[in-house]
Amino acid sequence: MRPTIMEKVEGLRGINSVKIKEASEAGKKVVGMYCVFSPQEIALAADAIAVTLCGTKQEPIAEAEKHLPRNLCPLIKSSYGFAITDTCPYFYFSDVLLAETTCDGKKKMYELMGKIKPMHVMNLPQTAVDEDSLESWKKEMVKFKSFLEEKFDVEITEEKLIDAIKLMNRERDVMKRLHKLNAHKPAPLTGMDMMMAQWLKGFNVDKEAGIQLIEELIKETEELMDKGEFPFTEETPRILLTGVPIGAGSEKVLKLIEEAGGSVVVLENCSGYKGLDTMVDEAKNPIEALAEKYLSTPCSCMSNNNARLDLIKRLAEEYKVDGVVDLTWQACHTYNIESFTVRNFVKDELGLPFIQIETDYSDSDVGQIKVRIEAFLETIETKACCCGGTC
Ligand code: SF4
Ligand code: SF4
Repeated sequence: MRPTIMEKVEGLRGINSVKIKEASEAGKKVVGMYCVFSPQEIALAADAIAVTLCGTKQEPIAEAEKHLPRNLCPLIKSSYGFAITDTCPYFYFSDVLLAETTCDGKKKMYELMGKIKPMHVMNLPQTAVDEDSLESWKKEMVKFKSFLEEKFDVEITEEKLIDAIKLMNRERDVMKRLHKLNAHKPAPLTGMDMMMAQWLKGFNVDKEAGIQLIEELIKETEELMDKGEFPFTEETPRILLTGVPIGAGSEKVLKLIEEAGGSVVVLENCSGYKGLDTMVDEAKNPIEALAEKYLSTPCSCMSNNNARLDLIKRLAEEYKVDGVVDLTWQACHTYNIESFTVRNFVKDELGLPFIQIETDYSDSDVGQIKVRIEAFLETIETKACCCGGTC
C-alpha cells in the first residue's frame, strides 16, 4: 500500500519550480550545488536558497556531447547539458554555483561550466579524514563563506551559521527517521518512493515546509504499518543499493530491481542515506563542525574510502539485507575500480550475494539488465529456501 502523501511529495517538483522563480524575483539569492560535499548551511546562513543541481536526465546529454567526450559519466554530461541548454529552472535561477574537486570528470567539466555563471570551487582534500585534511577543508569552508559574503554583500555571522546547522540537522533527522522505517520486515516504503522523497528534498525552497511534509509521510507510513499494509511480503528479497547517485530520470536499475520482485530497503548512495548518517556537531565551532561532517562523506573519490565499507556493513545488518547491488555509471572510474573492493567485502566479510551493474541513463540495455537482476534475485530466493538451495 502506497502512502497517499507520496503524491504531495511528488507534487513538490512543480511547486518548487514556481517558488524558486517567485523567490528569485523577490530578490532572494540562490546557490546551485552539485554534490553531497556541499555545505548547504553556509548558503543558508547567507540568507540564500541552496538547491541541488546534479543532472539525472538523459535529454540534455546529446547537447553536452558537443563539448564533452561521449565516453564520460552521464551524470557529468547531464549536469553540463542542463547548463548549456538552459532547460533547468534551478540552474537558471542560481546566482552562483558551488563546485568541488571530487572526480576528474566533474572537475574539468566545472572549468567549462564556470564560464556560464559565477562559480566557486572548493578544493576537496581526497584523503581519509586526518588532521591535515581537516585543516585544509576548514580553510575551504572559510573561503566559500567569504565568497558568498562578497557576492551577496552579506555578513555570515556565527549565529546565522548555528541556526542553519540546526535547520539542516532537523532536515537530516526527519529523512533519517523516514529511512529507518524500512528496517522493518517487510519494508513499508518502496525504494522508488524513498529515493523520490530524498531526491526531491534537494529542491526545497521552503525547508520547514519540506520537513513538515516528511513528518506527515512518516505518520501515514506508520499508520499503514500498524494496519499491516505493506507493498512487499516478508519473503521479498531485501536489497541494499550502493554506488553512484541516482534521481528521477536515472532510476532505471532501482526500478528494474523492484519490478523484478525485489525490495530496495536502503540506498547507501548520495541520493539515499549517505549524507544523513552523521549530523553536524551543534556544540562545536560551526566551521570546524561543518568541515568534520562533510569531509567524512564516504565517496569513491576519497582514498582510502574504507568508511564506505563500514557504512555498507552497518546498513546491511540494520536493514536485514539479503543482497547488495552496486550501480556504476559508465566511465566513472572511481566507483568502477572500487567495486572490486566492495564485491570482495560484501561476499567474504558479509557473506551476501553481490552484483555490479554498469550502465548509463539510456534505455538501450534495459532488457539485458532485467535478465541479470532476475537471475540475481533468483539466487537470493534459492538461498532463502528451507532446503538451503538443494530443491
Ligand atoms: S558520489 Fe561523490 S562526487 Fe558524486 S555526489 Fe556523491 S559525494 Fe559528490
Ligand atoms: S558518478 Fe563517478 S564520474 Fe560521475 S560525477 Fe560521480 S564520481 Fe564522478
